[in-house]
Amino acid sequence: MRLARVLFPVVVAGVVSVPLSARQRDFSAVEIETQRVAEGVYMLTGSGGNIGLSIGEDGPFVIDDQFAPLTEKIQAAIAELTSGVVRFVLNTHWHGDHTGGNENFGKAGAMIVAHENVRKRMNPEEFREVMGNTNQAPPDALPVVTFTDAVNLYWNGDNIRVFHVDPAHTDGDAIVYFTNANTFHMGDTFFQGRYPFIDVNSGGHVDGVIAAADRVLSMVDSNSKIIPGHGALSGPDDLRDYRNMLITVRDRIRVMVNEGLTADQIVAATPTADLDDTWGSSPDRFVRNVALSLGAQEAPGPTIPGIQ
Ligand SMILES: [Zn+2]
Repeated sequence: MRLARVLFPVVVAGVVSVPLSARQRDFSAVEIETQRVAEGVYMLTGSGGNIGLSIGEDGPFVIDDQFAPLTEKIQAAIAELTSGVVRFVLNTHWHGDHTGGNENFGKAGAMIVAHENVRKRMNPEEFREVMGNTNQAPPDALPVVTFTDAVNLYWNGDNIRVFHVDPAHTDGDAIVYFTNANTFHMGDTFFQGRYPFIDVNSGGHVDGVIAAADRVLSMVDSNSKIIPGHGALSGPDDLRDYRNMLITVRDRIRVMVNEGLTADQIVAATPTADLDDTWGSSPDRFVRNVALSLGAQEAPGPTIPGIQ
């Protein structure tokens, strides 16, 4: 029983939800839709994390690449807008619905860029100390240029600032800021209109998600466009609503953690009941991960009389 409790979150995050969903699902009906965001910047949606696309004289550059079976459709959607092969892929984090196309794009000539922890988590054979993922990515899928704090790309006439934030959705999150296009891609630090997934097994923390939102909100103006990891193209007001919801939930759950409630007990207490109609009807995973990131115990410890 204890073993099952310990292993369960690892299995959910690393084995079941990401790779199996890609293998088992039929992607034949998925269509890639293209939405213009700003001059030279587009958002592509299909199945998986939202894709950012920069086009211009230097060649296409994409942020995240969904699942491998969708690569040809993504390439076709890009070819509708511009010629040339994708020169760079930037991964906002390691999850398979954002990196599943890496191998295909890498073999087609793209340089894959990501935070150092993205490479580590996709590469458990080399980095055995990194927990939370046991699936080895193929060599061509791994980022070949990594950064720890920030990297700038001077590409397609824009000054593209890519920066890491403190552990939020994972410990390898990157946010992309097209300074000329006044557009952000926040990866999964921002789920528009719904509760986020905070991957505590990959080092995620609710405080980091709030801090990431605050950081972007400190950089925006009223015209800024924000591509979320999941959900519709957004603006600062959407991000502000999301941040305020997170603070409300975080503060409620922090009180419960400080009272000594376990993650199970906090989930059972439905602390987000009044918010669920707006932000999502299945809050249990979100509440559990907020509680765990704030230090709640996964399950009650053994009660041994006389020992504290
Ligand atoms: Zn993710």
